[in-house]
Amino acid sequence: MNIIQYNLLLLNNTQINVFIERKKIKNHYIKIFPNLKVVVCIPLNMDLNLIYGFIEKNKKWIQKNLDKYKNVQKENIRDNLSNGGTVKILDNQYIVYIYESNKNSIVIDGFNIYIYSIRSNDINYITKQYNNYLKEKSTEYFKESIKKFWPIFQKYNLTFPNLKVKAMKSKWGSCRPSVSQITLNLYLYKTSIQCIDYVVLHELTHLVHHGHKQRFYNFLEKYMPNYENIEKQLDIYATQILY
Ligand SMILES: [Zn+2]
Repeated sequence: MNIIQYNLLLLNNTQINVFIERKKIKNHYIKIFPNLKVVVCIPLNMDLNLIYGFIEKNKKWIQKNLDKYKNVQKENIRDNLSNGGTVKILDNQYIVYIYESNKNSIVIDGFNIYIYSIRSNDINYITKQYNNYLKEKSTEYFKESIKKFWPIFQKYNLTFPNLKVKAMKSKWGSCRPSVSQITLNLYLYKTSIQCIDYVVLHELTHLVHHGHKQRFYNFLEKYMPNYENIEKQLDIYATQILY
């Protein structure tokens, strides 16, 4: 396919890639996809400088529409812990039902999540209760992912890592090889299974290769050939969840 990439600096100082695609069409146009991809389709023989000018001229419109999609995604992914609201877990959306109860518990059934609480009208209390639940469930899940990848690392004579799960604002995970400790972001549990596996493998790889040199990425690629795609998905999640 005949695709050219153009680097566009938006008015809010973020850089995006605009994909220019030559097609058998008469008039050029811009398309913006919900996954925030911007594509400009142009006739086969159209001059590229003209099209770069066209993109620059429509910068404002592009940004406005990207923001629109970002807000929609934000609304979907942000937890709304009220009756009828939704929360996201493992890339699935669940409808929230809150009930007063003499015992706290949280149960998922189908695509509903039932929160039984001794203080059902106290949103701060419900939020804490839900975050505790998220921490417990995510820790179980992350541990399984570590166990799944551990056979790869066994030959390096390493200690099985200690896992810490906590809410973080700017990263999905970190690794301290000297004490064999991996920290994962609580909110990683909202993303997909693939994304979690990627972050787990990434942090485990740091037990063998410190830093992000070529050897590190060669190692990652060997066990997760599509890791670059998953990194891109995580970048989108990051704009929705972390910032
Ligand atoms: Zn890293």
